[in-house]
Amino acid sequence: MLRNIEEKVLAGRRLDRDEGLFLLGHPNLPEIGALADTVRRKKHGDKQITYVIGRNINYTNVCWVRCKFCAFYRPPGSAEGYVLSHDQIFRKIEELLEIGGTEILMQGGLNPKLRIEYFEDLFGRIKERFPIHVHALSPSEISYIAHLSRLDLEECLERLRHAGLDSIPGGGAEILVDSVRQELAPLKGTSKDWLDVMRTAHQIGMRTTATMMYGSVDTMEDRIDHLLRVRDQQVETGGFLAFIPWNCQPEGTEMKTVKTSGYDYLRTVAVSRLMLDNIDNFQASWVTQGGKIAQVALRFGLNDFGSVMMEENVVSAAGTSFHMGMKEMLRLIRDAGFEPVKRNTKYELLSAA
Ligand code: SF4
Repeated sequence: MLRNIEEKVLAGRRLDRDEGLFLLGHPNLPEIGALADTVRRKKHGDKQITYVIGRNINYTNVCWVRCKFCAFYRPPGSAEGYVLSHDQIFRKIEELLEIGGTEILMQGGLNPKLRIEYFEDLFGRIKERFPIHVHALSPSEISYIAHLSRLDLEECLERLRHAGLDSIPGGGAEILVDSVRQELAPLKGTSKDWLDVMRTAHQIGMRTTATMMYGSVDTMEDRIDHLLRVRDQQVETGGFLAFIPWNCQPEGTEMKTVKTSGYDYLRTVAVSRLMLDNIDNFQASWVTQGGKIAQVALRFGLNDFGSVMMEENVVSAAGTSFHMGMKEMLRLIRDAGFEPVKRNTKYELLSAA
């Protein structure tokens, strides 16, 4: 079967569910990685690995959804809950611009006090002051803002875009299989809810990313079904700029599972690259894997090292703490045999190193 799969991949033909499952179970990981690397080279050339200079801004940690895998949130009313002030947010953006940053990734909890007017005001003020790309609000935040503000999704997204929202991160996808979602986060939206926000965003011309958080209670079948749902959505609307897989970080959370291995990450990255033939960019999650596994994954289908990160609060709340400045990221890319190229959030190339 592997030879057939190789032939299909090299001929640019799409793999089916059984082939995806076969790859996830195949013992020869280097062979699967080499095939994924071939696809990466075809799309992006031999040498280049991109990165972006961005900053995570977690504007609030107040959230009522209580996902079992999340160590970041504080329930409404908690003394440890916060909403950042505008001045705190502006200062973070100024610091980012000082190091040549181009993107802020703003995500937070589902805070019952924050309606659309809060976000319109915040994005408007950011755009008045700073030349920065606002990549913000995962689908569950957008659905909740629409719900709280009694808007339909399209109206909500149009208003946010008008205020300054440029693109949407694909967080909260976890695994797009409802039995898994029910177990991990019974109060969070369904797979359909996540896909509906993405579809609507793409239809009004916004670009988004897609993610996968695997290694919780999911099976290999669930992982493949997740990939197929993302691929089908991309066939329909074509709005996903990138795919970013990472594994569940169970420490400090209600999860009883053990963290999955780097080996499993490399396999999942490679199979994602092979299954998602209609998504161009695959981003490393060095925040969860560390720089060394991220480096190796550049030979398993990834073409992007993600963001130099000044700040990260979500994964570190779960006890995983990797930090990386620009110098270290460039060194890791070069030591892996590639040329680092700075990009913007749209994956347009800006300049070498
Ligand atoms: S993952 Fe997001 S939605 Fe779930 S509890 Fe954490 S902050 Fe809330």
